Amino acid sequence: MDLFSPGCLGTCWYGDYHYMEPWVGCEHDCFYCYARFRTEVKDCLTEKAAAFEKPVLMLEPDLLLAEIHEKAVSGEVKTLKLSRFTDLFTPKFVREGLSQEILKILARSKVERIIITTKGLPGEETLDLMARHPALFSYNVAAKPQGKLSVEPNLFPLEERLKAAAFVKKAGVLTTVHLDPVLVGIEDEKVSLDRFFAQLTRHGLDRVMFSYLLLNPLILEHMEKKLGQERMSSLTESYEGSPSLQYLPQQAETVSIPPRASLKEESVERISHMLRERRFDFVLCSLKSAKDGHKVDRQLCPLCDGRFYA
Ligand code: SF4
Repeated sequence: MDLFSPGCLGTCWYGDYHYMEPWVGCEHDCFYCYARFRTEVKDCLTEKAAAFEKPVLMLEPDLLLAEIHEKAVSGEVKTLKLSRFTDLFTPKFVREGLSQEILKILARSKVERIIITTKGLPGEETLDLMARHPALFSYNVAAKPQGKLSVEPNLFPLEERLKAAAFVKKAGVLTTVHLDPVLVGIEDEKVSLDRFFAQLTRHGLDRVMFSYLLLNPLILEHMEKKLGQERMSSLTESYEGSPSLQYLPQQAETVSIPPRASLKEESVERISHMLRERRFDFVLCSLKSAKDGHKVDRQLCPLCDGRFYA
């Protein structure tokens, strides 16, 4: 696995960006995380004799920062997405100050846009840093209502994560809530969505990108191991009979199963109506949730054209 890699073919941004993976693995340990099963992640973990939920650095700290600096000032990287297979704010590296050091280097570099998607909680210094460079950052807090299946065991309280997002939004940073991945039939009930959207409104967060969980046999097996088959059955039923498809060209590991069309279509309609009523700015992820050919009323539910949180 490389520290920097160019964007993937077939994604919404036509690959005109880079990813950076400063470490391998992620402490958030979401049961549905596809990263833990990607060959390049597994090979890297094996090489470093590490477990996914105990992330390790790609390089020694000083060398890592030096390599990031060298690339960031080279001018090669214009748009940087953090990250594809891990989280920049995985608690261990926030605590050790490395997440902050990395962003300080990037903020002083030739990188023109830094797109962060996170389930973590940045430190105060980092929030201040982003607030001082509002045009440089796009901040995306991955958050969703708590459903009857707990699939994200190691997250800071939602309220704290939303507060951090609200802080940078107030400073002018483009801030979007990623309601992703939604577990259809489990996290999209009207009552819990109402509560969740009211919480967003309280924090002044009114931009949402939403998308649905894509399953594959490895993720399913892992989730059943963690939650038990019986408890998982309410979720797996929602995928029965749904054909799989490959989401990214030349990447066989992106073959996945979307939720059953009827259930997902109902859910998209419900969420869209609720977001419209609240006058939120929102889109459905076109890459993960509109390639399956399921019906989407574009008047009601706009599809992301790759620029919504760019
Ligand atoms: S936060 Fe992201 S990278 Fe980390 S375990 Fe969860 S889904 Fe995977």
